[in-house]
Amino acid sequence: MTQHLTPDELQSHIDKLPRMDIAHLPTPLEEMPRLTERLGGPDIWIKREDMTGLAYGGNKARHYEFEMPHVAEEGYDVMINIMDYHSNNARMTAAAANKIGMRYILVLRNAANRNVQGNLLIDKILGAELHLLDEYQSGDAEGYATKLKEELEAEGHKPYLIQDYLFPRIVGMVGFVQAGIELKEQIEAANLKNVHIIGVAGRSLCGFIIAAKSMGLDWKFTGVTVNYDVPLKGYIFEHNKDIQELLDLPVTFEQSDMRVLDQYVGEGYGVMTAQVNEAIHIAAQTDAIICDPNYTGTAMAALIDQVEEGGFSEDETVIFLHTGGLPAVFTFADQLAAFKGKV
Ligand SMILES: *Cc1c(COP(=O)(O)O)cnc(C)c1O
Repeated sequence: MTQHLTPDELQSHIDKLPRMDIAHLPTPLEEMPRLTERLGGPDIWIKREDMTGLAYGGNKARHYEFEMPHVAEEGYDVMINIMDYHSNNARMTAAAANKIGMRYILVLRNAANRNVQGNLLIDKILGAELHLLDEYQSGDAEGYATKLKEELEAEGHKPYLIQDYLFPRIVGMVGFVQAGIELKEQIEAANLKNVHIIGVAGRSLCGFIIAAKSMGLDWKFTGVTVNYDVPLKGYIFEHNKDIQELLDLPVTFEQSDMRVLDQYVGEGYGVMTAQVNEAIHIAAQTDAIICDPNYTGTAMAALIDQVEEGGFSEDETVIFLHTGGLPAVFTFADQLAAFKGKV
């Protein structure tokens, strides 16, 4: 039998790590009464990680509370990130880098000649040093970024190319172990039973799993694959022992702790399916929740489909993990505005 930790004990493990306060916490846990009524299934609630505050919010505000101080402590003085032109991660890294006073270089794929809108616009306002690659250059974005890194090294800097060394992203997961303690309190205050959390399959959900298992909670988890830059297999599930060690915990997350749904991906990252487009409109026109075309819209489409298909039991309380991504609706304005069906 594993020894469970009290919330205070788990907190004391987290408190050993360096942290900076950048997220607005706690984020709300709210009901979605009109979506619940429309779907006629289990009660649906939502955890508002879109409201973490930092430059339009999202889950990465919590990640960077731990990830940024770790990077700074390792002595890095400039970060280099390779992302897609519409990436939330790119924007939130720029915001967190400003907060700690770190120089930030952003190599963006498929970004040349794009409308400067959504996350790309915010990247620019935040002052990220932008390298907008065309289609040809995007084929070797890693080579491009490595060259920048070598040039900076020659100038005497210590650049951190994020794609070369992913351990800090595991450190970032601690933000969601912390969020698990917060969510436990909110769930108890609202007297919710048989909790089943659904969200994008990634670090955030795994952080919640660690918190739940450490404290001996019976929460269930469904992760929705969106085919983004940090794949589950071969990366996240491979590093479960690293975070266990980092936090010195008796347990960690395992692949079997999460039901993974990968049928909602569509053509892949950055291509919105008709189902996702509809789900965005349904969440907005019931409980006024805005989801994004890549991540949370896909998770919302999965939630709606799973309730309709009996993928949750009636006595469960489904909690939708809204991980943010709001500026992306402006990037995909044309596709969203072309939506015709009545919801
Ligand atoms: C980055 C991102 C995710 C995935 O993040 P994880 O850290 O892997 O959980 C999910 N949703 C949005 C909106 C994101 O920007």
